[in-house]
Amino acid sequence: MALATLPSGSYSLNNASHEDELERNGIVVLAKDRFVVLAAQNVRLQHCSDMHQQRLSEGDSIRRKLDMIFKAAVESLTCPILLEPVKCLWILPECGHAFSAQALHQLFQEAVRLELNRDLHDHINVEPQLREEGHTPYTAEIFARFKNLATFNFTPSYKCPLCRTVVTSVPIRCTQTVNTALGIISFIRAYTQKVVTIENGCGLIGVDWADYFIFTI
Ligand SMILES: [Zn+2]
Repeated sequence: MALATLPSGSYSLNNASHEDELERNGIVVLAKDRFVVLAAQNVRLQHCSDMHQQRLSEGDSIRRKLDMIFKAAVESLTCPILLEPVKCLWILPECGHAFSAQALHQLFQEAVRLELNRDLHDHINVEPQLREEGHTPYTAEIFARFKNLATFNFTPSYKCPLCRTVVTSVPIRCTQTVNTALGIISFIRAYTQKVVTIENGCGLIGVDWADYFIFTI
């Protein structure tokens, strides 16, 4: 039987895999401002061959701590717009807030639509449905048309929906956070049989983040 000790305190993610980290140091989820450091609170996990059969009961103190850690890991993957945990989590570099790719695309697409509908762009000759809500997603090709047809500067305003910081550069993928949180969730799920659905939350086909920023160059 292996005994793993998780001492209390704050931890950072360095080079260890999530399971090494879990066993040696505690639980870790990072992400600039919102990255959560999960204190492990002296949780001691006993790994033994029949652990999976035993299960941990609801009232068990270790079970309660695992539940807390599990909840924090799920929350660290949760997109504030979709309100669901996702695998495709991206950070806005200007402010550090993170969202699903799906939500950021919706946000940026809408910013472009609002720009297109400004009076000074009435002359841009495009299919009328492209000006309406629920339009087919703008692709790189459509962005190029907007840019080329615009007589006045075409400048969509991208802002973080949480703090309203202006976004001027491409989002950064949260790979390490997501991998760590997924590892924690998978690790704890084996002991508690907790169920959670993690969506992909991925983006759009035919458009890259950089395509949203061709207007400002
Ligand atoms: Zn923000």
